[in-house]
Amino acid sequence: MIYAKPASVAIPTEPIGSIPRPPDLIEKLAQVDSEDPALVALYEDAIRDTIERFEATGSPVVTDGEQRKYHNFLTYCVHGLSNTSADGFKIPFSDGRTRRMLRLTRGPFRYLRHADSYLDVAMRYAHVPVKQAVISPSALSLMYPAEGFPNYPREQFIEDLLHEHETEIRRCLQKGAHKVQIDFTEARLAVKIDPSGQLLDSFIDLNNLALSRFSPEERRRIGVHTCPGGDFHATHSAEVDYANLLPRLFELKADNFYVALACEQDPQRVLKIIRKYLRPNQRIFVGVISPIRAGIESAEEVRDRVVEASKYIPIEQLGTTDDCGFAPFSDDTSTSRDTAFAKIRARVLGTALPNTPSCRRECRNCRRAEQL
Ligand SMILES: [Zn+2]
Repeated sequence: MIYAKPASVAIPTEPIGSIPRPPDLIEKLAQVDSEDPALVALYEDAIRDTIERFEATGSPVVTDGEQRKYHNFLTYCVHGLSNTSADGFKIPFSDGRTRRMLRLTRGPFRYLRHADSYLDVAMRYAHVPVKQAVISPSALSLMYPAEGFPNYPREQFIEDLLHEHETEIRRCLQKGAHKVQIDFTEARLAVKIDPSGQLLDSFIDLNNLALSRFSPEERRRIGVHTCPGGDFHATHSAEVDYANLLPRLFELKADNFYVALACEQDPQRVLKIIRKYLRPNQRIFVGVISPIRAGIESAEEVRDRVVEASKYIPIEQLGTTDDCGFAPFSDDTSTSRDTAFAKIRARVLGTALPNTPSCRRECRNCRRAEQL
């Protein structure tokens, strides 16, 4: 057997986070509260099976598939708090459905759980590095009502929010998360809601207040995910031009960015924007798999997307990812677990294809990487 020469510069590849939950877990979650003891064994089985199947794809970095994040990537940390109500901020999706956040009904604001508790379990099962996604302060800031509270001013809420977020990231880093990824899906939505860009600016400023609390060394393991949303194959802001988002996004004090790209109508145009605004310390993980599109990408399709991206992003600053999680909301059954893992496998295989002899023949960047 002839083996390809190992790549001189391996392109890192990472998932975003969520994997569809097993049907028996979804069924039980519809009957009992997410913290019901009857769910413990189901959660444990789901996490173990997710990590086993993740590792079987060859993925060098895995997650727990967010099997315990209930209801979703947004409110997992505050679900069950006695000082919240269900009538919070609305996220309208392209298929006409709406998802709703929780609203704070009184102070003080505290997390009920931090994401490092998920990491504890995942790392018991995993044999490869585990990454952990956390929700952005900007998303949770939407929980504070516009009219405010006389005895709990917004400034105090923001201070409490930043403290909880910082604590969550620090604990994940200390426990050995490969990366901590801040989910910032509301960035693109902010430009849709407020085309003047002021809302996005306020989100960026708030998230930078949090990121400023970390050292440059810590920020090397911190990343930010941007996407147009993904829920039941629908999006919330795909029509927003990345030209109105990415220049501001890259001002965030993080070293890694996970940018949905596979579902974009004109990926080349987006890559040109990335090239223009990318900073030297930043690595861009471009989306090469679209969780919201039916059908499984081939490894060759992924390879072509990687080679295309490498024409615009220096290979030492390039990585690949999925455009989004495969089920950011826990009841999303639009993609099967089999399909999700088959897509991840294509990402892993396709990302490793550049820099093999067949790719080097046609790819300038592979030749360049060889000389580095
Ligand atoms: Zn996403």
